[in-house]
Amino acid sequence: MLTAADLLQELLARARPLADSETIPLEQARGRIVARGVVSRVAVPPLDNSAMDGYAVRMADCAAPGVILKIVQRIAAGQVGQPLPAGTAARIFTGAPIPPGADAVVMQEDTEAAAGGVLLRSVPRPGQHIRCAGEDMRAREEILAPGTRLGAAELGLAAAAGAAEVEVARPLRVALLSTGDELVEPGRPLAPGQIYNSNRVSLKALLAGLPVEVRDLGILADDPAGTRAALEKAAAEADVILSTGGVSVGEEDHVKAAVQSLGHLDLWKVAMKPGKPVAYGAIGAADFLGLPGNPVSALATFCLFARPFLLKRMGASRVLYRAFPVRAAHAWPRTGSRREFLRALLVPGSDGQGEVRLFPNQGSGVLTSVVWADGLVDLPAGTSVERGDWLRYIPFSEVMG
Ligand code: AMP
Ligand code: MG
Repeated sequence: MLTAADLLQELLARARPLADSETIPLEQARGRIVARGVVSRVAVPPLDNSAMDGYAVRMADCAAPGVILKIVQRIAAGQVGQPLPAGTAARIFTGAPIPPGADAVVMQEDTEAAAGGVLLRSVPRPGQHIRCAGEDMRAREEILAPGTRLGAAELGLAAAAGAAEVEVARPLRVALLSTGDELVEPGRPLAPGQIYNSNRVSLKALLAGLPVEVRDLGILADDPAGTRAALEKAAAEADVILSTGGVSVGEEDHVKAAVQSLGHLDLWKVAMKPGKPVAYGAIGAADFLGLPGNPVSALATFCLFARPFLLKRMGASRVLYRAFPVRAAHAWPRTGSRREFLRALLVPGSDGQGEVRLFPNQGSGVLTSVVWADGLVDLPAGTSVERGDWLRYIPFSEVMG
């Protein structure tokens, strides 16, 4: 038995970051991993500019409240002003460059129209309402390091820096297969003994949140020759083969033997619930990740192990999820012999503080528990919970997408 922490280490040690990259337009780069650091072409902002609609002034003219300054110019965003003579003010708008000589902006709401100009009701602080050139980024500064995953904020930053394109890791090719003679795709009738294949669609949905190209190889029957042939084909087409089921100890678990005969396999019993068997293998240049067949186990082990593996494999620098301490909303007297990842829901407690509830049926086939939940509680082995105890809560947003 391996601990979950050791399994993660073992897997990450085997994830070799992709070396291939491609340069693509920013608009197509959401979710991708930066391969070459993005360097800003310009300082942002490029010039000192106004954070308010108001008046640019010289501090030397504003010793006391009630000063009236003559308005000698008007500077809108996109324009550049002239040097500001002593004793005058410039009408200025948000984003417009501060004219030379001005050293504060008085917002419109602190002024009133007066004969001969604008009256300043208060004395400004030096530098008030001025956004300084380069305060967000300097020119030629690396603003996004290799390994950064590009989300909305990162893409906005790259655009602000003047980058139209970005060099990212190419998408990782992932072959997905489900194993089991009992599996039938939804939409077809079920014969006795059969069940619908849920792992294929839920893992595909999880993969859709990552920059991968999925090769969907459908359902593999529980037979040695077919399993071998499918894995060989998958290895030729994919960087990573992701499969569910067939890695337990039963004689119908053919995936194990097939991977062993084509390459090599590390099969681990993990001391956690759900998700006991997890396998890593290599077939030629392809990695093989074998997740358990039970739907909740497949989901949980994808989130906790396969996702960090895939992220590292595509060169991401942040691959680990974060957990947060949250109080238990109720007692949970059952103690398990293995570390448990319990389906949990974060709710506001009676005092307004967040607390977590645990789904009553934590069976590894009970998908309703995952639908009800919005995260996992990571409960150490042999622990029972009293109401109000601090628990380690992992939001699904940390491990999905
Ligand atoms: P296995 O690991 O193949 O022994 O499967 C463990 C359990 O998960 C069995 O009850 C299987 O029927 C079930 N199972 C395996 N694969 C799937 C799947 N793709 N969708 C739903 N249930 C599955
Ligand atoms: Mg099976």
